[in-house]
Amino acid sequence: VYRNFQNLLDYSERDSLTGLLNRKTFDDNFSKIIRTGLQRQLHDNAAEVDVERRDTNREKQHWLAVLDIDHFKRVNDQFGHLYGDEVLILVANLMRSSFRPSDKLFRFGGEEFVILLRSTSKEDAQMIFERFRENVARYPFPQVGTVTISIGFAHIDPFEPAVGIIGRADQALYFAKSNGRNLVCQYEDLVESGALHIEHSQDSV
Ligand code: GH3
Ligand code: MG
Ligand code: MG
Repeated sequence: VYRNFQNLLDYSERDSLTGLLNRKTFDDNFSKIIRTGLQRQLHDNAAEVDVERRDTNREKQHWLAVLDIDHFKRVNDQFGHLYGDEVLILVANLMRSSFRPSDKLFRFGGEEFVILLRSTSKEDAQMIFERFRENVARYPFPQVGTVTISIGFAHIDPFEPAVGIIGRADQALYFAKSNGRNLVCQYEDLVESGALHIEHSQDSV
């Protein structure tokens, strides 16, 4: 009975196609996940502070990435829905093998995924997402061939509701889509370089 109940819990928090965490789990647990990560980070920083001087650029933070498969409609149109589903499963598997267990992976719906990357510097976050983007682009998808993804990511302000953070990552994703796809774009970098302008009333996702 216990095992069945456990399976039931596990089932309802995961997406049935890919086995990744689902959108509802994200909505219900976002602040809890961030708070746990933050506590761990405070603890780690306290241990590190004697060893190395704090450098704000290298400071470890949390990051939220929105990932979307490029031209996914073409996969369905050319090969059929079943091959489309297979691509979703394989992308999810690549995610599981590319990220650490402490990072949280979600299927947000359709061919859109969200990644919460825990306590890492901006440079490392960029590198980790780039590496994943390359892994996908290099992967030989059976029948379908090459599939690419675009990623937009943003800094997680732990005191801000998730909707605002997702909105910024989404703007970076939109930028990647309109600049050739198969790209990783970081929101704060885009704002700094003048490529994006800060939108103050961001109330839709
Ligand atoms: P872009 O590069 O701009 O993201 O183009 P796109 O074709 O990926 O974007 P669009 O939003 O036009 O199409 C997404 C498609 O994803 C539409 C829908 O048919 C497909 N899709 C959504 N959910 C599923 C699913 O669960 N299985 C399959 N096979 N296809 C899905
Ligand atoms: Mg999409
Ligand atoms: Mg897409």
